[in-house]
Parts: sequence; C-alpha cells; structure tokens
Amino acid sequence: MSECIFCKIAAGEMGTEFLYEDDQVVAFRDLNPVAPVHILVIPKRHIPSANDLTEDDNDLIGHIFGVIRNLAQKENLDQGFRIVNNSGREGGQTVQHLHFHLLGGRQLHWPPG
Ligand code: 5GP
Ligand code: ZN
Repeated sequence: MSECIFCKIAAGEMGTEFLYEDDQVVAFRDLNPVAPVHILVIPKRHIPSANDLTEDDNDLIGHIFGVIRNLAQKENLDQGFRIVNNSGREGGQTVQHLHFHLLGGRQLHWPPG
C-alpha cells in the first residue's frame, strides 16, 4: 500500500475530481490554490521528482505539456499562464511525486520567492 498521497489521488482512492485523466496522467485542482487557476498535472506512475526522470520518460513529459496546453485553453488562460515544477528541498518540493503546477488567471510576477 503506497503512502504517497498523489499515488492515492491518481488511483482514485481520495475521491478527487479529475479535470483530465488518461492511462498515463491525471489533472486536478490544487488543495491550496495560489492563483485563480491552480491545477496539478501528475503522472500516474510514481516518479519522485524531475531529478528522477530518464530518457524513457521523454514522451511522458511531452504528453504532460500537451495536457497542460489543453487545460490552459479550457480554463481560458489566453492571456498567459505559468508551468512550475519544484524539485528537491531547495526547489521547494513538498510532495515527493512528480507534479507540474499550471497557474493562471492573474498577473504572475518574477522572480518567485
Ligand atoms: P510542491 O510544493 O511539492 O511543488 O506542490 C505540492 C502541491 O500539492 C501544493 O501546492 C499543495 O497545495 C498540493 N497538495 C498537497 N496535498 C494535496 C492534496 O491532498 N490534494 C490536492 N488537491 N493538492 C494537494
Ligand atoms: Zn506517488
């Protein structure tokens, strides 16, 4: 039994509403949104972080970016959006299952904290 919360979400064990699902990925809204649109896109397979990707995952990552583009269109983010991946402790990663944040719906600033 996995202790990983995102594995449980991906398996449908938490009753999370999916904005998108296929055999490789799921997308759902962040529990603590920091923008009007804040969606997480994750692989169903447990990959701890971006630092654990291999060349075998290149298609998966390309697929995830396509899913994000489609979600951005559905959420009417025609003025722009941001894709974020936090990796490792200094990268600010708090859930140790690879995920990409899709943020939008307000003016985003740079640099991040
Ligand atoms: P990280 O800081 O690792 O890049 O992002 C983890 C994100 O997952 C945070 O934005 C946090 O709000 C979100 N999160 C953590 N636990 C849950 C959960 O159980 N459900 C949902 N929907 N989001 C979660
Ligand atoms: Zn996991």
